[in-house]
Amino acid sequence: MVIIVKTGTSPGVVAQLIERVADLGFKPHPIYGVEKTVIAVIGDKTQEKIDTIKTLPGVERVVPILQPYKLAGREVKPEPTIIHVGDVAIGDREIVVMAGPCAVESREQYLQTARFVVSHGARIVRGSIFKPRTSPHDFQGLHEEGLEILRGVKAEVGMPIVSEVLDPRHVEMLAEVVDVLQIGARNMANFTLLSEVGHTRQPCLLKRGISATLDELLKAAEYIIVGGNQNVILCERGIRTFEQATRYTLDLAAVPVLKAQTHLPVIVDPSHAAGNAEYVPALAKAAIAAGADGLLIETHPHPQEALVDGPQSLEFGDFEQLMRQLKGFAAAAGRTFPVPAATHN
Ligand code: PEP
Ligand code: MN
Repeated sequence: MVIIVKTGTSPGVVAQLIERVADLGFKPHPIYGVEKTVIAVIGDKTQEKIDTIKTLPGVERVVPILQPYKLAGREVKPEPTIIHVGDVAIGDREIVVMAGPCAVESREQYLQTARFVVSHGARIVRGSIFKPRTSPHDFQGLHEEGLEILRGVKAEVGMPIVSEVLDPRHVEMLAEVVDVLQIGARNMANFTLLSEVGHTRQPCLLKRGISATLDELLKAAEYIIVGGNQNVILCERGIRTFEQATRYTLDLAAVPVLKAQTHLPVIVDPSHAAGNAEYVPALAKAAIAAGADGLLIETHPHPQEALVDGPQSLEFGDFEQLMRQLKGFAAAAGRTFPVPAATHN
């Protein structure tokens, strides 16, 4: 159920209310909206306890949550959640582009890419040091050695970074440096990892599993939020179907469906869906048309030499061209697009 707090209730009274609800044996989850504060309450309820809650100071009314996503659902929070990462707001009017290489390969490669994408309007730099690879014989990432590269390049470029966390034991270490923790498709149902990230307050990018339904994706988000971390960004990155022409099948319908079901921001990764740089621009544009709040795009200074995901990584020239084109698509969708630090129009 959800407790709707009376408008104008002081923070002190809200805090007391939360305490009283916890004393009654529930797990309260306050959600602070622009207009309304609500407290989602999870746990077995008796009518007696509900009646007690109704009499507490600050309570406007108590309503049941019918959606299975008690915390991620629109029912508990009708207005969209905006996640702030440094100066960047995800889920607001601006289309946020997160771009960079799949993997951090060297300081030079990551710095060069970071500088380039940022100068063309990317607001968050991607690049992972822990890579989930299908084969154990493939490059697995620079691991701890890459941490200093992430730290140094982030300081140099002055932009937030997103990087994948594969192991619950690395959450704390990565959260010190990384602004957005990425939970990849293969780990969407790694409940230990989800819970661990839920215990931080670090924004997190949760990618849909390759064979996960949207219901499962939302329940995975629920695992993070239930721990107290409401900063979850959902990402559609393509699902496995019978189609072989692209690496995965980008399920664009996921965007409006998720938007209807949840208040969380939704972004699209056209790179992994396509598996081929040639198809990335069309999918990126379509994602904006479908209502995505942002894009996750792989870019590499020399895609042919990339250690991971070269075929789907955009060359710099193609990235620059796409960013220029996206501006118009964003405007047509009623969204804003950042003015790049360096314009080459
Ligand atoms: C990635 O973003 O490089 C990645 C591994 O993505 P996914 O988890 O969607 O495969
Ligand atoms: Mn990749």
